[in-house]
Amino acid sequence: MAGTDKSRRDDWSLATRLVQEGILRSQFGETSEAVFLNSGYVYDSPEQAEARFKGEAEGYVYSRYANPTVSMFERRMCALEGADAARGTASGMAAVAASLLCFLKAGDHVVSGRALFGSCLYIVEDLLPRYGISSTLVDGRDLSAWEAAVRPNTKAFFFETPTNPTLELVDIEAVAKIAKGCGALTVVDNVFATPLGQRPIELGADIVVYSATKHIDGQGRCLGGVVLGPQDYIDETLHTFLKHTGPSLSPFNAWVLLKGLETLPLRVARQCESATRIADFLADRPEISRVYYPGRTDHPQYDLAKKQMAFGGPMLAFEVGNKKEDAFAFLNGLQLFTISNNLGDAKSLTTHPATTTHQRLTSEARAELGIFDNTVRISVGLEDLNDLVADLDHALSAKP
Ligand SMILES: *Cc1c(COP(=O)(O)O)cnc(C)c1O
Repeated sequence: MAGTDKSRRDDWSLATRLVQEGILRSQFGETSEAVFLNSGYVYDSPEQAEARFKGEAEGYVYSRYANPTVSMFERRMCALEGADAARGTASGMAAVAASLLCFLKAGDHVVSGRALFGSCLYIVEDLLPRYGISSTLVDGRDLSAWEAAVRPNTKAFFFETPTNPTLELVDIEAVAKIAKGCGALTVVDNVFATPLGQRPIELGADIVVYSATKHIDGQGRCLGGVVLGPQDYIDETLHTFLKHTGPSLSPFNAWVLLKGLETLPLRVARQCESATRIADFLADRPEISRVYYPGRTDHPQYDLAKKQMAFGGPMLAFEVGNKKEDAFAFLNGLQLFTISNNLGDAKSLTTHPATTTHQRLTSEARAELGIFDNTVRISVGLEDLNDLVADLDHALSAKP
């Protein structure tokens, strides 16, 4: 960080900080961030080793605890999120699991939105209760349901907004206020909004988690995750948990994600612009009965979207025809969009949630979440908008 003028840096806009923030330049003066692919570190003397182990001297000890390339990613994520501190993890699920397990204990209770990414649902519904941490799932849109679910031992509120795949919203500010009132921490999975579209910490949330696998990498290359929050929670509670359980972010993946952050604003702006146009195109088509997109005025929670989101986001969902065969005929008719359960890629991806990501649920449970046999989800990529629209147009003309 030699020669950095701190006072000037505080004026930098987000786009600048996403390119410049957190660089730990080595003695070789490399322009691009270096990849420190090392597991261990050496010491000048036993005294230095002792001091580092006691925490009395700055410096790295072991890459399961911390690594310079991972530190650069964490610093840049803090700048992006406006958070005190952050830790990278091996995947988004490692981030979600650690963010909760690091501070909860047997006897505690968690309230969670019921519309969750499949593995998040497993953690809240199956895993936590096995360790004596009970959970209540609520309709995240209903503030009175959050209030009614609170118990004397409630220690965490956990939710995603917008939700997967039908893009329901949770009022972050209102729910975080209820959590604060009962002394629980609010943990928000902010993947679908992206860090540029929604700032949960400013809205009162305590902790934000990401699957960096999605828009932060943005090009489908590697897994990664990150947890952001207050200094004491991150540096003490979470750090101790991660250090001793080991879901560390690979330095190579941290480097890929750092490079992803440099182009995040460009990519997400383009994806959101295309998503808006695609949502409007689909809404005008007779084959489509319903479009779910927080950026459209016909979204049932459009006012909330305007209040807490900077844009409608890069994800959308819709219902095509009225049965599974209609959805499959549409998916089989696509030539440019590819079928994948992944999201947040440069490539535009489509998913049929009922038979893939949400197959584990009963059809009644799916219906409660607004997922039907004709529901299709789209993750908008970076291809030319006209090509994407032409592909949708062609596929909509396909008959089962
Ligand atoms: C993908 C995803 C996760 C899990 O992230 P991985 O990197 O795949 O482990 C968690 N939450 C949401 C909303 C996701 O989209």
